[in-house]
Amino acid sequence: MRDFLDAGEISYSFEFFPPKTADGERALWRALREIEALHPSFVSVTYGAGGSTRDGTIRVTEQIATDTTLTPIGHLTAVNHSVAELRQVIGNYAGAGVCNVMALRGDPPGNPQGEWVAHPEGLRYSSELVELVKSLGDFCVGVAAFPDKHPRSPDLESDADFLVGKFNAGADYAITQFFFGADNYFRLVERVRARGCEAPIIPGIMPVTNVAQIERMALLSGADLPTDLVTRLRAAADDPAAVRAIGIEVAVDLSERLLAGGAPGLHFITLNRSSATREVCQTVRARR
Ligand code: FAD
Repeated sequence: MRDFLDAGEISYSFEFFPPKTADGERALWRALREIEALHPSFVSVTYGAGGSTRDGTIRVTEQIATDTTLTPIGHLTAVNHSVAELRQVIGNYAGAGVCNVMALRGDPPGNPQGEWVAHPEGLRYSSELVELVKSLGDFCVGVAAFPDKHPRSPDLESDADFLVGKFNAGADYAITQFFFGADNYFRLVERVRARGCEAPIIPGIMPVTNVAQIERMALLSGADLPTDLVTRLRAAADDPAAVRAIGIEVAVDLSERLLAGGAPGLHFITLNRSSATREVCQTVRARR
């Protein structure tokens, strides 16, 4: 990961989650092998709410490091973990040869919109987790950014202050929540640059393939869903192929606008099914 950051190359990367079933495991590995053929810059593996997938996340991340040519990033959240437990997970990553960690606070387990309560012996904010990971070894650390504002941040300016706080704590780069408005991404980058911070902010891209799913995910993540996109998707809702085609067209257009405007890469959220994100990535790369 650090190689890409240092070289200033455009990165193309993909996000997966640890599966809970044998069928899910097969789907994940099929998707990973298909993505491997594209030679992405890195792949990331999410950490389930409340630390629920701790073992799965570490296992999948380790297996990617040992069994594939891919560079894995292991996510880690502070939810329900004491500092001692967090140290142990970070040690597990290091032991597995994983030196790329995404440091996140996470959401309250059960109800992501509920009150956030830190573990009594844990951490309050992701910036503290960045400091902890950095203090334990030579890790390259990523953090979350929110072009449409984190739902709990009072306003866009304080949201930018908190993001810069994570970089000041030692984060090497950020990956954003998925979003649909390129201008919101560019304005976030401007706010961060205005605070004297030049760290790379990689946009997160999620092609829509299911209308109900994207509406649910946008509600939880605070991402703005443009009304004209919702209208188009709803009009096609009975035709999955048409929904997918709209989702891909929109994601390709957004990706191209972002790269043309100087984004340092594209991070595709796969939901463990590679076909739509592969199609978007291949189209964007072929046209460049
Ligand atoms: P923080 O940076 O700690 O921010 C949390 C809230 O506190 C924000 O409202 C922020 O504005 C505020 N804040 C931050 N610092 C301060 C401060 N110093 N003083 C006062 N307020 C402050 N969730 C998972 O459970 N597992 C994952 O694997 C996962 N991966 C993700 C990957 C990406 C790319 C993104 C964008 C999000 C991911 N999330 C994941 C979701 C994330 O955990 C939630 O969005 C969570 O609510 C915020 O996490 P954070 O790391 O941004 O927290």
